Amino acid sequence: MTDHRDTILASVDRNAKTLADLSDEIWGYAESGFEETRSSRALAARLEAEGFSIERGVAGMSTAFTASYGSRSPVVAILGEYDALPGLSQRAGLAEKSELEPGAWGHGCGHNLLGVGSLAAAIAVKDFIAASGTRGTVRYYGCPGEEFGCGKTFMTRAGAFDDVDLALCWHPMDINAVWQVRTLANLSVYFRFTGKASHAAAAPHLGRSALDAVELTNVGANYLREHVIPEARFHYAITNSGGRAPNVVQPFAEVFYYCRAPRLDQAREVYERVCDVARGAALMTGTSLEIAFSQGLSDYVPNQVLGELLQRCMETAGPPRFDDRDRALAASFRSTLTAAELAGAKGQLKATQGDAVLAKIGDDPLDEVIGPLFRGDACLPGSTDVGDVSQVVPTGQLVYACAAIGTQSHSWQNTAQVGSPIGHKGMLAAGRALALAAAEAMLDPGVVEKAKAELAARGAPPYVCPIPDAIGPEDVLGSMRAGSVR
Ligand SMILES: [Zn+2]
Repeated sequence: MTDHRDTILASVDRNAKTLADLSDEIWGYAESGFEETRSSRALAARLEAEGFSIERGVAGMSTAFTASYGSRSPVVAILGEYDALPGLSQRAGLAEKSELEPGAWGHGCGHNLLGVGSLAAAIAVKDFIAASGTRGTVRYYGCPGEEFGCGKTFMTRAGAFDDVDLALCWHPMDINAVWQVRTLANLSVYFRFTGKASHAAAAPHLGRSALDAVELTNVGANYLREHVIPEARFHYAITNSGGRAPNVVQPFAEVFYYCRAPRLDQAREVYERVCDVARGAALMTGTSLEIAFSQGLSDYVPNQVLGELLQRCMETAGPPRFDDRDRALAASFRSTLTAAELAGAKGQLKATQGDAVLAKIGDDPLDEVIGPLFRGDACLPGSTDVGDVSQVVPTGQLVYACAAIGTQSHSWQNTAQVGSPIGHKGMLAAGRALALAAAEAMLDPGVVEKAKAELAARGAPPYVCPIPDAIGPEDVLGSMRAGSVR
């Protein structure tokens, strides 16, 4: 009898070419969050052709969908993303900065690979279920708007994960590892001040400056930093400074804040205090204030049971199957990185993978090692909407090398490599490992039980969505269009 591993590895190998083509197709679309029409259509069409049943428009988002195959429990969710980033257009595979289209969007975070790597896994699990008759459902989640949105938060709020037993996800990176670190909860908000225009020299006393209010908000927030928990982070961008004329008292100005902390309740506290600072600034300046909540992300909860499962599966799947051409291309990308970027990558490898892996990699341009499972309690100082999924369902994530070591996310170098064979090979490796993990969870009911028990043992209060009920995906899209955050 064929082992489940053979079926899964053969499925990914058989589909390797069409999967790479599909990721290149989505790389070429490079669509913005919640507007990934062609990307989501291409992914859903492929899954439909493979026999999955599709549900479109999940949680009221036109580019969100699910694709299910199999029957009954366990239900294993595999999450995919496909949104791009502004200003990161770049020619594929070229190790010198060269925009495909000036100012256009590009896949600087590699979500073209993320969506298709997860799809590769879903198809391989389907092939395993079909071949073995194993009980279980694999469900691909087409999740829009990760970069500047929170598609999964809306999906979680809408109950899209209510019948799911465990969720798996991955992200393209420059190393191979299980993602066993927490992330920060993040609440974002626009402060919009309205004052009164006036001649700034002739009649300043008649004006009320919205720009003053923005500046006082930022001064107050910077004083606040000393009196919040040290792990809290808040930062701002002035998205409307009120115009370009010094001789006009600015009648309108806007500032955009992120309020982050290790847990959602802590982020909420910081958020409320920053809002108070803005209210104080309005009072001081005689302006009126609109507080427009933008987005909310819960902190990510790693699951040790799933971490260990993914570790075993990564070891079975192996590292990406790079060849000498990939290594030469990666070396040329490494030569575009600064000494600080290269040193930072070494430090990250050392911290997460240990000295033995660092020594094994040496000066290689690509990570071709599966290191040990990270067992610390580290927190990555960033945020993701996978956090909300992890609050309600045991969730496991991994990262695979899809670029030369030291390549930064959201850089032109990353856009170039995730559209090249280096990215394809990392993506296929991720598909293998995720599919193995899903199949093993279906074959061993103890995995789901233990993973759920671990999540429950946190004793956390029931999930409360970080986004107020009145705010929907269309509001987030509207606020992104209105502001200059894109
Ligand atoms: Zn990303």
